[in-house]
Amino acid sequence: MITQEQVDRILRLEGNGLPLVSLYLPVEPDQPGRRAHRARLAGLLDRIRPLADDHSLEHAARLSLSEDIAKIEQRLGEEPQRPGTVVVFSCGGNGVYEEVWLPRATHERVVVDEAPFVRPMLAVLDEYHRICAVVVDEATAQIWEYHLDEVRELEAIRDRTLRGPEHAARLDEDPVRDMADELSKRHYRRLIGELKRLFKEGGFDLLAVGGHPYQVPAFIEFLPRDLHDRLVGRFTVDRDTTTAADIRDKVRVLVTDRAYQEQERLVGEILEAVATKHHATVGLDDTLWAGSLAAIRTLAVDTEAVAPGVVCDRDGLLARTGEQCLLCGDALREVPDVIEELVKTVIEDSGEVRHIEMETDLRTHLTGALLRFELPPHPIDTE
Ligand SMILES: [Zn+2]
Repeated sequence: MITQEQVDRILRLEGNGLPLVSLYLPVEPDQPGRRAHRARLAGLLDRIRPLADDHSLEHAARLSLSEDIAKIEQRLGEEPQRPGTVVVFSCGGNGVYEEVWLPRATHERVVVDEAPFVRPMLAVLDEYHRICAVVVDEATAQIWEYHLDEVRELEAIRDRTLRGPEHAARLDEDPVRDMADELSKRHYRRLIGELKRLFKEGGFDLLAVGGHPYQVPAFIEFLPRDLHDRLVGRFTVDRDTTTAADIRDKVRVLVTDRAYQEQERLVGEILEAVATKHHATVGLDDTLWAGSLAAIRTLAVDTEAVAPGVVCDRDGLLARTGEQCLLCGDALREVPDVIEELVKTVIEDSGEVRHIEMETDLRTHLTGALLRFELPPHPIDTE
């Protein structure tokens, strides 16, 4: 699972005078198996192999590149377990090797540069919230990270309490109860301090609060405004028996609900912007045209949408049909799903991609987008 620490570490990578290899190897859902996977990997590495023998480069740079190629070949050679994209950042001479799995396919790509090529990685991760899930009672707290449908425990906090069974008999005495209340407030304050730190440093988007139904509201009341604004929801778990899988399942429900609301809102925004003719488009032909011109700021794709089409390998033009590129005149290549190509193109152009999983008005249109600028007329329309 990719952590914020790893993302931060990757963003800080530099070659220090040595070449750094960034490699994106997509794994399609209907991937044809180990042999094709290895062939694809070999094809990518072949593009940089000549550099490792290029005597205009310093000896140390060539050595580092050869090491990178051998290591990537060995590490990625096994058949991948799940669809998505494997991303590697490698610089053998600096002892750097970072491997990341992304849940969606990007364009295949290999880049050799001083700096890591991170844009496609960030664009894909941008679609997935990073949630801080806290399981709280009046004396303890477990803090979990939920990201890309996986969880890991970050830390546990235990404070003093008078609410244990050994004090139960005395809790109806006022001074004991006041002291118990004071201790739980102290615990909540400490936990909030910790959450504030994590939100500042950990790259979290949203907060989920879980525990016993009678204890969760007390803590939520304590949340300061900035954390309360991040609250995605609450869930019920028994702290003593809960497992990582329980936490994941509970948070997943909250995140899914939230995602559906966001998807509905985005589709509404696009349709309204189309109606008022303000930097938006809907329908596959126009969205493909917008993608061809790098005009898409936010792409919305119905998850069930698939459509055969054509692409131009020279300038990236995308269309549903055609023999020759409207921009350069080259012959177009047929692809089984031009929407998949569109998604990759938008990622490459630093746009946002949102997959619309629920049934909205987008289902009949397949795709829609918020645009960076008004589109020039489609050449076909003007002919
Ligand atoms: Zn072209």
